Amino acid sequence: MIPDISKIRKDFPILDQNVNGKPLIYFDNAATSQRPIQVIERMNEFSLRTNANIHRATHYLANKTTEAFEASREIVRQYINAAEAAEVIFTQGTTESINLVAFSFGEAFVSSGDEVIVTEMEHHANIVPWQMMCERRGAILKVLPFNDNGELQIELLDSLITNKTRILAVAHVSNTLGTINPIREIILQAHLKNVPVLIDGAQGAPHFKIDVQDLGCDFYAFSGHKLYGPTGIGALYGKRKWLDQMPPFMGGGEMIDRVTFEKTTYNQPPYKFEAGTPNYVGAIGFAAAIKYIQSHDVQAIVAYEHDLLTVATEKLKQIDGLKIYGEASMKAGVICFNIEGVHPFDLGTLLDQLGIAVRTGRLCADPVMDHYGVENMVRTSFAFYNTFDEINAFYKALIRLKAMF
Ligand code: PMP
Repeated sequence: MIPDISKIRKDFPILDQNVNGKPLIYFDNAATSQRPIQVIERMNEFSLRTNANIHRATHYLANKTTEAFEASREIVRQYINAAEAAEVIFTQGTTESINLVAFSFGEAFVSSGDEVIVTEMEHHANIVPWQMMCERRGAILKVLPFNDNGELQIELLDSLITNKTRILAVAHVSNTLGTINPIREIILQAHLKNVPVLIDGAQGAPHFKIDVQDLGCDFYAFSGHKLYGPTGIGALYGKRKWLDQMPPFMGGGEMIDRVTFEKTTYNQPPYKFEAGTPNYVGAIGFAAAIKYIQSHDVQAIVAYEHDLLTVATEKLKQIDGLKIYGEASMKAGVICFNIEGVHPFDLGTLLDQLGIAVRTGRLCADPVMDHYGVENMVRTSFAFYNTFDEINAFYKALIRLKAMF
């Protein structure tokens, strides 16, 4: 069934405004997506009527908040089909989720001379934490490259994985190239050599139905704010067998079992990894966002977003001198490009004058910029509230702006 986009857009009041005198066209969804009124109202209602710190008191409001927080964990668990709620850790977002694994897994399982594999197309959030861990542990970071089309050179993976490889980290969907990576195949290949796999799902979870058990991944990291939820909240899925063996990431309240000055023992997962007061209002908003997505036909949304990508790609390719970076056969709704002779920042600024929000810059992916030998790119990224009319308007704006240069 084709989703009723005009009805969906009514749930996102922010979209209904003029920017610089023009109707807003929001094409910066890979940076952050907008929140439906259902999420905003749920969080407001919660703050107005229920707020109290969780897990710490016996009074009515504390119990209600704890129940809502744990119910949110259960909603996330169901959404990704984790085997148990203990495998879902609330974090600030993808960045914290990856840092948590890089630190705690590194402490437990990585030593001098070991190897960690990432790919050339990763966001900095899936490079730097591993680099920091490798420095700490004396390990070596290895990189699986991609070809100019924007596809990982999977054929090199087998020789890259050695008996020293301790973990492999890869994006589900690239935030620059839009490539949907063959993560199932990568996981299978890594597991054949007993190497666990972390999936950076920042750009995957917002667009696909995720089933971590079916995928078989060891860790899956994602953010609430890219999934129509609030900022400052995200999740890390981790297989229980790893979480049980990994030491805590941060110390503080809630992550302990018993504290004495001589020795402290730790709580069970997920609490072992949730030191301090968590962003429980965010978690409740995150769960509301998931429920919002689930109130739609998810398959229809995926298909619609793919149509947006196809139409936009066809249109952009008609523009002389426009180069698209990343033309993998499996792509999600992200298009990065440059127009010959036009600085991406100028283009971004002029598009903004026309009410069109795109992202420009290095997109937290320096190695991708280096691969293509460019300093910056322009990125458009779609969500299911975007329309074909917006793509048309964008195309016409590009033609008009290009003529100015
Ligand atoms: N990985 C990818 C692929 C991303 O696109 C992003 C966000 N741009 C991140 C990680 C980091 O996400 P966050 O800033 O929400 O922690």
